[in-house]
Amino acid sequence: MALTFTPHSTDGAARRGTLSTAHGDIRTPAFMPVGTAATVKGMTPEAVRSLGADIILGNTYHLMLRPGAERVASLGGLHKMMNWPHPILTDSGGFQVMSLSALCKLTEEGASFQSHVDGSKHSLTPERAMEIQFLLDSNISMVLDECTPFPATHAVAKASMERSMRWAARCREAFDALHQERSESRVQSPALLPLPAGEGRGEGNPPELPNHESRTPNSGYGVFGIVQGSIYEDLRLQSVEALTAIGFDGYAIGGLAVGEGQDMMFAVLDVTMPAMPADKPRYMMGVGKPDDILGAVERGVDMFDCVIPTRSGRLARAYTSGGEVNLKNARHKDDPRPIDPNCSCYTCTHYSRAYLNHLFKADEMLGPILTSWHNLAYYQSLMQGIRDAIEAKDLGKHAANLRAGWKAGDIAPL
Ligand SMILES: [Zn+2]
Repeated sequence: MALTFTPHSTDGAARRGTLSTAHGDIRTPAFMPVGTAATVKGMTPEAVRSLGADIILGNTYHLMLRPGAERVASLGGLHKMMNWPHPILTDSGGFQVMSLSALCKLTEEGASFQSHVDGSKHSLTPERAMEIQFLLDSNISMVLDECTPFPATHAVAKASMERSMRWAARCREAFDALHQERSESRVQSPALLPLPAGEGRGEGNPPELPNHESRTPNSGYGVFGIVQGSIYEDLRLQSVEALTAIGFDGYAIGGLAVGEGQDMMFAVLDVTMPAMPADKPRYMMGVGKPDDILGAVERGVDMFDCVIPTRSGRLARAYTSGGEVNLKNARHKDDPRPIDPNCSCYTCTHYSRAYLNHLFKADEMLGPILTSWHNLAYYQSLMQGIRDAIEAKDLGKHAANLRAGWKAGDIAPL
């Protein structure tokens, strides 16, 4: 099997499942912390793991430019280089190429652009995007897609989606060729050849191999397609149909959280999710705030990633059971209480709002670190609570409690 997804229980449209990869299992619904440049900013991998993350995300665009995909491969791959032996998903680089780089030019072949780091020229085709993610040793590769601008007319969104579907087919083919090659080179390795008869196994029996060394092509690795189509129902459904005809190991919803607002985002999910294959994981890219995640889980989404916990952490913004808290606010200057009295993370059990307020005022690096720590802990405990509630078929009540807490707001000043 490429990747194995096992849905265990459902509550309404919400699903509790396990996605198995060559580097371990992912409990879903899952939140993936973002390790843009092969690091979750300000956090050691051990800390990220200890907070409950099963998988992190790496960014193809950043890593292809610096340190370079071939260099990462020569250093043993992303898992080894960054000391994260657990599952990794990488994006295709398309979003950053089209939003961060200079002079991006799109053709049917792919994208050509200049690095935002040093101005050097690069190209990213569907085939190269798959090769880079292969070199990084990513467990879950994402297809290269065209990022449809928002807002877009129906005609523009249609042409863009259709190109993305053609690129998706090229990605699937390239992914299979790369992983087939790896699989064949493993079979030829002497260590993996069957033992001669009489040496412990019956003649002709294949050797028992660990999962990631299996002879099955792509074992423990997979590629996800990305549904596009902007806010147009017919285009979203055509996109799902085109991708399922190709066949992917999971399906992502792209082109959301780009300024359309939560109502429209949920409206797109309401249309798209029922058409998505039920036996594959569903991933909503780049989302989101806690209430975005909760609403998407209720609509059947299994995986999320977002820079919010660490980016907001660097900016002194904390996410809590009482909504958002700005630690730079003067009201915290003398407050000995933790960020969130309901949180048992390292930051909340050791440090006061007053101390964190001081660290941010003094521009000390520990402020962003401790606040990122809390935010990542909050997100992971949010997901654990959601998973438990789905298993108990109690998501409705659990969600109402979470929303009531966020609506009530932060604890009153002292
Ligand atoms: Zn905390």
